[in-house]
Amino acid sequence: MKPMTEPQIRSAFLNCSKGEAKRLHVPRNLSELDWEDLDFLGWRDPQAPDRAYLAAELDGRTVAIALRSSGAASWQARRSICSLCVTTHSGGVSLLVAPLAGKAGKQGNSVGAYMCTDLACSLYVRGKRDVGVKLHESLTTEEKIRRTVANLAAFVAKVTA
Ligand SMILES: [Zn+2]
Repeated sequence: MKPMTEPQIRSAFLNCSKGEAKRLHVPRNLSELDWEDLDFLGWRDPQAPDRAYLAAELDGRTVAIALRSSGAASWQARRSICSLCVTTHSGGVSLLVAPLAGKAGKQGNSVGAYMCTDLACSLYVRGKRDVGVKLHESLTTEEKIRRTVANLAAFVAKVTA
């Protein structure tokens, strides 16, 4: 993806207030990231690890989503699959919940999805980060990237529906 700047990311949040978007944690090392290896930027707030965020360019538009870890870790299967990159982890997948955009979100409605806990889907898809569990898939890296982006777009569509 193309490099993003902090103001660009802050102004792209779809499901939190402008005040929250101004205050929330954005990585400081944006200029040092290998953006070419990213289909979306995912990060957590080091001060509040239950808060996660992602930013992507979809259909030429920058979008960012605020997420919360669900506290429901106890009933998670030990091995789970990320709903974005379809990587199977032994313990590295979290249920993240996004408030819906607009009025529906203010009324407490949200949508959840299992995602790689470190939000590094792009690196797993490219084989740049190891998962420990190897499942044979006949897809090429290109196909896996396309699938990840399609899954992400579907998730963003649910948040903004
Ligand atoms: Zn993933």
